[in-house]
Amino acid sequence: MIEKITIIGMGLIGSSLARNIKQHKLAGTLIAADRDEAVCEKVAELGIADIVTDDLARSVEEADMVILCVPVGAMRPVVELIAPHLKDGAILTDTGSVKESVIKAIKPLCRSDIEIVPAHPIAGTEFSGPESGFAELFDGRWCILTPLPETSIRAVEKVTQLWEGCGSIVEIMDAKHHDLVLGVTSHLPHLIAYTIVGTANDLEDDIKSEVVKYSASGFRDFTRIAASDPTMWRDVFLHNKDAVLEILQRFTEDLTALQRAIRKEDGDYLYQRFDETRAIRQEIIDQGQD
Ligand code: NAP
Repeated sequence: MIEKITIIGMGLIGSSLARNIKQHKLAGTLIAADRDEAVCEKVAELGIADIVTDDLARSVEEADMVILCVPVGAMRPVVELIAPHLKDGAILTDTGSVKESVIKAIKPLCRSDIEIVPAHPIAGTEFSGPESGFAELFDGRWCILTPLPETSIRAVEKVTQLWEGCGSIVEIMDAKHHDLVLGVTSHLPHLIAYTIVGTANDLEDDIKSEVVKYSASGFRDFTRIAASDPTMWRDVFLHNKDAVLEILQRFTEDLTALQRAIRKEDGDYLYQRFDETRAIRQEIIDQGQD
């Protein structure tokens, strides 16, 4: 158990974490902070934290661990605000979907006694806000930590214990590598979904209505992903620019090869590609990540 934990940003991830920490008694006192008064009222109503406040600076004053659950682009302004108020030796961690740029943004703002342990739970939904959170969100899901070379083992262990207490499986990775891997598994699929749904949205009204009517044939799954929070995803693409552009280049080349195979009626090529990709689905099922 950690004596005092402060969570900043009480949306889907922050509120899920709060529910989990309360349920598993992982903190002596849990403080929930959000800049939005209405969010604070909702969190107080839900009863998922011991103290709820919209005063971010004061919320961290006595915290042993501070967990940032705000969009990636908001990490810097939030740390600018709280850094002078962090307790000596406090652990500062986050849940941002991009790691390298968050480290670059927050590290120069922190005193040397602050233990920075960047983290990313590989779990989520397309919903946002405190009502959408649930304690089981992290059950059996990976949480990737990307500690800095100077971060103490003790701090990494504390954050590991917290996520394991929340039901996650923890993996340690280099931040740059994390951004490349997640560029493939999460960021590119979101970009593709936003594109497909955007294309359908630009169609003439009569076709559009049929797209919605017959959406179960594949389109529906993309609409779920493309319903994700626009602020969060804008920040992900702006902050993982290099990795996303690299993966996008490869994707475009592969798409062009498929386009050529269709034009040339090269059924063997199409079959071979579709057969290979099927195996990945089976691996995901085998590893319990479906
Ligand atoms: P969310 O539901 O939209 O909640 C974000 C919270 O942060 C909101 O309460 C928001 O308040 C607050 N916030 C935004 N900008 C702020 C600022 N400048 N200062 C203070 N508070 C601010 O988002 P989420 O899905 O929980 O995501 C939180 C973090 O987890 C993000 O970094 C995201 O990349 C990461 N993550 C998300 C998922 C997912 O599937 N959603 C999965 C893994 C990791 P307002 O409403 O006032 O803007």
